[in-house]
Amino acid sequence: MTASDLAALIRSRQPCVALTGAGVSTESGIPDFRSPTGVWAQYDPMEYATIQAFDGDPEKVWSFYALRFHALAEAVPNDAHRALAELENRGLVRAVVTQNIDLLHERAGTHELVEVHGSIRTCICRGCGATYELEHVRRLLDGGSAPRCEACGTILKPNVVMFGELLPFEAIDRAYALAREASLLLVVGSTLEVAPV
Ligand SMILES: [Zn+2]
Repeated sequence: MTASDLAALIRSRQPCVALTGAGVSTESGIPDFRSPTGVWAQYDPMEYATIQAFDGDPEKVWSFYALRFHALAEAVPNDAHRALAELENRGLVRAVVTQNIDLLHERAGTHELVEVHGSIRTCICRGCGATYELEHVRRLLDGGSAPRCEACGTILKPNVVMFGELLPFEAIDRAYALAREASLLLVVGSTLEVAPV
């Protein structure tokens, strides 16, 4: 399909919803997960990305997340993020459903954004329920060890969905509704291997 074929399709099949995965952010310098140079070629997801791993050894999981947090926080949107935001501005894309936690769609200007795997925007204290914004967590990470709640000392958990965790109900519910109502679903940069997306 050519770009002009795709443009015609987007114009004729409204509403159009976009679904994005890690591939949309690789040109922003964020490695994907499943390619040969991806994150999982270096780190075993069972050791670093499951809720069981986090519960068992949160400091080890944070040794992985700390690197990613700084890289993600510094990343800037690329043309793919900007194009989707522009299509939304022109009324041609109704919403972006993303598996990404990197905030790049938001930074590119997408308003209707559904983050089905959570994001790095906040971390939560599972001890007292306090929420910490990204920049605050980055300052806590500067000490070099896992960030702890300043009120109760519990190691914070990123508000991203780890393997073995349920997806945020509101987000996945909204994603299903958008997909049901869409006449066209644009899938960008996802291998569609992670359930339930
Ligand atoms: Zn706390």
